Amino acid sequence: MFLWKACNEALPVKASLFRRHIAPDPVCFICNQDEESVYHLLLGCPWTRAVWLSSQLHVQHLHQGSLTVKDWLTQLVIRLQENSEDLSRGLTIVAYYLWGIWKERNECHFQQRPPDPLGTTIRIRASMLNGMEDNTPSPIPTQGRKPNYQARWDVPPPWTLKLNVDATYFKETCKGSIAVVVFDEKGTNVLSHSKTIWAASPLAAEALAVREALLLAMNLELPKIYLVSDCLNLVSLIRERRTDWKVEAVLRDIQD
Ligand SMILES: [Zn+2]
Repeated sequence: MFLWKACNEALPVKASLFRRHIAPDPVCFICNQDEESVYHLLLGCPWTRAVWLSSQLHVQHLHQGSLTVKDWLTQLVIRLQENSEDLSRGLTIVAYYLWGIWKERNECHFQQRPPDPLGTTIRIRASMLNGMEDNTPSPIPTQGRKPNYQARWDVPPPWTLKLNVDATYFKETCKGSIAVVVFDEKGTNVLSHSKTIWAASPLAAEALAVREALLLAMNLELPKIYLVSDCLNLVSLIRERRTDWKVEAVLRDIQD
């Protein structure tokens, strides 16, 4: 239903509310630059473009010449077919993005806050990994498409994400930093996260990095992850479920 509405200019964006004398003006409340049409909201607004850029789907150039979401989707279908890419999977991913952008826009509107492009991308990718349980967009309308094309709503395959963890540690200050870099199954960097920590030893810093990666995976509800650490001592402690007094509390968290 959502995509049908997007393709048929039926979403309650400000431009259409203004035409129906419901909104006082048609201007996008996020960028204050253009009319908030469905196309502007989902594809043209600067924050939306940032979401598409961080998606690494390389669909930005399809903006040129498109005035409606339906035109844009038609161009996307043509491009996917020309490149012999998996049409159903490609459209599924794009539909997740469109839906995620719409949800973020509504939350910004109701909570009176600026949009969060990176957070939106993360939430969309987390939704894709889990398969949407609620509010699943309906299939893309097939009207006007090639008759042999059957649009379907396939849940993407359960991707395994690789989480690389690393830590640096300075003995003099007992301070360090930890980093978690997340890659998808194609090796694309999906997300990077780092923070400063206090620790008693290099081993403790490495253990905190592993715990941080696990917390991130839990918060994003990632179903399948593959954790990589170059700290062999820590890896064998975790694997063999042994403990070390220097990192006992963190190890217990990790093993739980
Ligand atoms: Zn805008």
